[in-house]
Amino acid sequence: MRLNCYTCNDRPLKLYKLDFGLPALRCETCEGTYIDLLTYRMWLEDNAGRLNDKNVNNQDFDVTELENTETGISCQRCNKYMDKYRINSELENTINVCHTCDDVWLDRDEWQLLKHLNVLDKLTDVMSDDWQNTLKHEEAILNFKNRYRALLDVDFERVEEFANWLEHHEHREEIRHYLSRHRPW
Ligand SMILES: [Zn+2]
Ligand SMILES: [Zn+2]
Repeated sequence: MRLNCYTCNDRPLKLYKLDFGLPALRCETCEGTYIDLLTYRMWLEDNAGRLNDKNVNNQDFDVTELENTETGISCQRCNKYMDKYRINSELENTINVCHTCDDVWLDRDEWQLLKHLNVLDKLTDVMSDDWQNTLKHEEAILNFKNRYRALLDVDFERVEEFANWLEHHEHREEIRHYLSRHRPW
């Protein structure tokens, strides 16, 4: 089946081989990549062992250079909007998934990003409720910390240092109690 680019729309996708010969389709203009999940799962069965090799992970990859399509992307096969799944709580990048057609659209270099994050074998996990719930939980913690970092400015690091010290102290409960109740401020 002939498909056009999911972001450029009028550009035809061309056959392209990703790591260890995973067949995908790629747009030569925007370098977005289409992956059929059935093919991906079969490829994974044959290559899972090789993916855990440390040498596969490209450490030098620069995540700050990445692009991400914020707007909705329509599936070129069924025309429905694709679901977006963030990969982790620190990056805005998403993988676009059509659950009807069982396929994925990645923006330029996002396959390299997955490789960098060591999750080439976890595309299906990223779309799971567990993964997404963990991500939301991590993000809530991050936002909470950032609010206090903004409020306390340079003192934030001192508070963190104290909190880490306290966490491992044998009398941490007593110290917390003292701080909250008995210190004559
Ligand atoms: Zn394109
Ligand atoms: Zn679809």
